[in-house]
Amino acid sequence: MKVLVINAGSSSLKYQLLDTTSGEVMAKGLCERIGIDGVLTHTGNKSDEKFKFDIAMPTHKEAIQSVINVLLDPEKGVISSMSEIDAVGHRVVHGGEFFSDSVIITEKVLKAIEDCVPLAPLHNPPNLIGIEACREVMGDVPMVAVFDTAFHQTMPQSHYMYAIPYEYYQKYKIRRYGFHGTSHKYVSQQAAEMLGRPLEDLKLITCHLGNGSSICAINGGKSYDTSMGFTPLDGLPMGTRAGNLDPAIIEFLSEHENLSAAQVINILNKKSGMLGISGVSSDFRDLDTAIDDGNARAALAKDMFNLSVKKIIGSYIAEMGGVDAIIFTAGVGENDRSVRWDVCEHMEYLGIKIDPEKNKYRGKQMDISIDYARVRVLVIPTNEELMIAKDTERLVNEAKQ
Ligand code: AMP
Repeated sequence: MKVLVINAGSSSLKYQLLDTTSGEVMAKGLCERIGIDGVLTHTGNKSDEKFKFDIAMPTHKEAIQSVINVLLDPEKGVISSMSEIDAVGHRVVHGGEFFSDSVIITEKVLKAIEDCVPLAPLHNPPNLIGIEACREVMGDVPMVAVFDTAFHQTMPQSHYMYAIPYEYYQKYKIRRYGFHGTSHKYVSQQAAEMLGRPLEDLKLITCHLGNGSSICAINGGKSYDTSMGFTPLDGLPMGTRAGNLDPAIIEFLSEHENLSAAQVINILNKKSGMLGISGVSSDFRDLDTAIDDGNARAALAKDMFNLSVKKIIGSYIAEMGGVDAIIFTAGVGENDRSVRWDVCEHMEYLGIKIDPEKNKYRGKQMDISIDYARVRVLVIPTNEELMIAKDTERLVNEAKQ
């Protein structure tokens, strides 16, 4: 099946056309500056050449139309008719408590996504605009919504509640939702394949470590706990996000720096984490360069990150009563050998030991644990687009039956 995967932001729209049978990416690209002027960057699989076009994109509708046009282009495109696109998979950030799986988009589904806007005011509105634009341009091609939060809906209540008055959960649905669900689900399925064991029998801890980072305890294929919470600000310190902290700090900063709560939250989202501690950068590669130059604050930032990952892994092992494999994925998890090494150091007593030689590889799917380790440590490059395409295929096929 040929599935067009769409990830719509407020002024951008990423796309990939995937063949779900082979897993091949037929074409991919990005529309930027929607509503301003409009730039489309496109790569088809006939060559790796990247094409860049200035195209007027007053709204997402023109952006989608430009994507279709370039896919149909005799030279740069990969299809000869729009009817070759069997379905569209849309990434949607927040599905609240409505969605525990991906879903075929209907009017009722759109209403529920809209009802989740207060939970993700920056993300769900552009996701909805992307869906509407696609429906206008592509007519009745089946469309599926794949949510970042859906995978985590299996968490037990004691894992997702915050210990604030219960009425706030009832009134506002304040609870842990978790994010990166598509990535955690994808790498857990890959891990089961690599281990040659059914996912239902496995206790896994998946570490999605990138610019945004979250960890997930996956028990028998189901999300059991995860580090991001009501918003993606919770959990680990990240590129620019603080991660969890004593909430009293918010009032303290507000009073002493004369800032509103929203301004403090903005600092916790955009100026904290690796950037805030190091004063250098949010990018782990820049931190490594600074550490090599003797920058103590860059080293502190990375130490804090690694410690947080280790603490969460430890707590998830305790929660699940053991672990079969720990998986590292996303930009940092796939590439940064020092993070993997420091996180797993001194965990031999739990059966975790990395092979320093195997750990030298990066960006490659492999088992990096020493041969006799009881717990396998795996590096698995994530592929959220493929997961979205596969979910889309599954649901469209189910609907046909
Ligand atoms: P992501 O959000 O998954 O795209 O990850 C982005 C982050 O991955 C960047 O900010 C970098 O910090 C990190 N990253 C990417 N490549 C490397 C690398 N070769 N070594 C260390 N960190 C890397």
